[in-house]
Amino acid sequence: MDRKSLVSSNVLRFRELVAPAKLLAVTKYSNIDDVFYAYDSGHRDFGESRVQNLKEKSDELNSSGRKNVRWHFIGHIQSNKLNRLLKIPGLKYIHSIDSYKILELLYDKIEHFEGETLYYFLEVKTSGENEKAGLEDYDELAKAMNFILNHETPKLKFAGLMTMGSIRSENFEESAKNSFKKLKEYRDRLHKEFEYPNLKLSMGMSSDYMFALEEGSDWVRVGSAIFPKI
Ligand SMILES: *Cc1c(COP(=O)(O)O)cnc(C)c1O
Repeated sequence: MDRKSLVSSNVLRFRELVAPAKLLAVTKYSNIDDVFYAYDSGHRDFGESRVQNLKEKSDELNSSGRKNVRWHFIGHIQSNKLNRLLKIPGLKYIHSIDSYKILELLYDKIEHFEGETLYYFLEVKTSGENEKAGLEDYDELAKAMNFILNHETPKLKFAGLMTMGSIRSENFEESAKNSFKKLKEYRDRLHKEFEYPNLKLSMGMSSDYMFALEEGSDWVRVGSAIFPKI
């Protein structure tokens, strides 16, 4: 099978597989041709983890006439790159607001965003792995939630919670399931204690999306299973 047919059948298969959850096609390992193939098979939600790469791919899609892409940023944000990220046309979601400090900065800099509404997820550490970014626990989430409620603006919409399962673990499956269960519990608790409705869950990648779906994920972020490394 040629690359185009491969990518296109992977995208269609995954969209069906994860429904009613939504598929975020992560293109961080992919060259622009892969992105074109996915777009041409009807996909519009793409994720990148570096500002520079998102900018380049967004420009290439636009100049090839491929419009209406929804870009999702999924990487760690360095403070000095936030303005640049916010200005990229097509940016619709940030999944990786991973500290209170970057949350404050987002509200501070949102005037640079040119779209209508930017949706964002708070990233939460659920696996106990120290090198991971993210809010540590429910108390930190509650603090963030108070900040959000005091700074409402039509340009920003708190969309929900994001997490990553453990990268290396003795019991990979068990540990992924625990992570996703924990994220869901946090979300349910925010719904209840803050009466803030309709928060979504962004969880699950190529190796663990099936466990994320079992826990009710709304967005699965799949890269290598759709765009295998060449
Ligand atoms: C790279 C990445 C993904 C996709 O990873 P795969 O294992 O290739 O599916 C998902 N989420 C985040 C935050 C990532 O950085």
